[in-house]
Amino acid sequence: MTATSKSNLAGLSLEKLRELFVVAGEKPFRAAQVMKWIHQRGVLDIDLMTDISKDLRENLKTIAEIKLPIVVEDFKSEDGSRKWIIEVASGSRVEMVFIPEGSRGTLCISSQAGCSLDCSFCATGKQGFNSNLTVAEIIGQLWWANSLLGGFKSSTERPVSNVVMMGMGEPLLNFENVMDALSIMMEDSAYGLSKRKVTISTSGVVPAIDRLKDYTDASLAISLHAPNDELRSSIMPINKKYPIKELLRSIDGYMESLSDKRVPVFEYTLIAGVNDHRQHARDLAVLLKDMPCKINLIPFNPFSLSDYRQPSSSSISNFRQILQQAGYTVTVRTTRGDDIGAACGQLVGDVEDQTRRSQRHKKRQLDAAEAAKNGKKAFDSTDNLAVAADRL
Ligand code: SAH
Ligand code: SF4
Repeated sequence: MTATSKSNLAGLSLEKLRELFVVAGEKPFRAAQVMKWIHQRGVLDIDLMTDISKDLRENLKTIAEIKLPIVVEDFKSEDGSRKWIIEVASGSRVEMVFIPEGSRGTLCISSQAGCSLDCSFCATGKQGFNSNLTVAEIIGQLWWANSLLGGFKSSTERPVSNVVMMGMGEPLLNFENVMDALSIMMEDSAYGLSKRKVTISTSGVVPAIDRLKDYTDASLAISLHAPNDELRSSIMPINKKYPIKELLRSIDGYMESLSDKRVPVFEYTLIAGVNDHRQHARDLAVLLKDMPCKINLIPFNPFSLSDYRQPSSSSISNFRQILQQAGYTVTVRTTRGDDIGAACGQLVGDVEDQTRRSQRHKKRQLDAAEAAKNGKKAFDSTDNLAVAADRL
């Protein structure tokens, strides 16, 4: 086996690690041992896994390796939050954020470099899509947070008590990798997080929500942001494909499948003059009346490419009050890590947009074909500019 085709042990779920050992002619229980070394003790060197015989370690090194993404920057906010920038194999940089709050430590993890869904209020969406993160790049964020916060030194005190898939990217568009990463987060031989403390946030990829129950029982948050299809489609293009009625039906199906009583959280980013009117709150109360749920209001976090504004605190509290009076449990997310660009929707990393690159490329090809048909020169200086812009 060549070096490049070695399995990366850091990105294998317990089930896949077991398969690897069985195929290698070893006992499947070795899988839990290796998992504990990597994810509970933070050990990335197979030679240091001392409860595994030397022969087996040598054998393992011929078929497997342990590779994690690298942390390239570390920012500390005045409020105690941290933001780390991670470089992934595609060359893009993605961000993860740690938010300590009393005894709770929440890690906000990225699932993609960029995002193709182009929600109008989101900095990540403005970058377009670059790549899906691998399982090791997703779980590697939790590994690094533990490592940098001293979590591998103590077997009882874990700095990260909660994980939310609310960083860069749409987790359900990187389905298989996110599912395997979730299983490692929740696996007792790894991080052992409970299903209540691991949350997937989605903009509403309905076919993926429909499949979700066959892979995980993690908690679910849905980015709703509008009480009707017209408004939602205008700020979240995905709504044109999967409108609200279908979305609510699929969420209901997932919640029904869970063995305990948990409710989904609807995220609602409040944008001044766009979706923060009192009537929007009343319509939202009616829309969700048949679905037990919580509502999390997120005051819009500004970023340079957006003209949107955050509503005043009185409009935020009016909006909240209307929902509370209608009987909903409503929280307003306090902005954390604002001084280090770590707040919701401000995560940008350093991502080269392949979606728009390829769209531009296609357009150039079509223009060239059209020009050739009309007997014109295929490329002129404007095309060169477009090519140069692509390289920026
Ligand atoms: N793609 C997933 C998860 C990442 S976004 C999703 O859309 O759910 C995490 C949350 O931040 C989502 O609820 C998203 O709508 C919200 N968000 C995005 N940009 C924001 C901004 N500028 N201000 C406040 N919240 C924002
Ligand atoms: Fe993508 Fe979520 Fe941002 Fe929309 S809000 S562009 S789905 S990351």
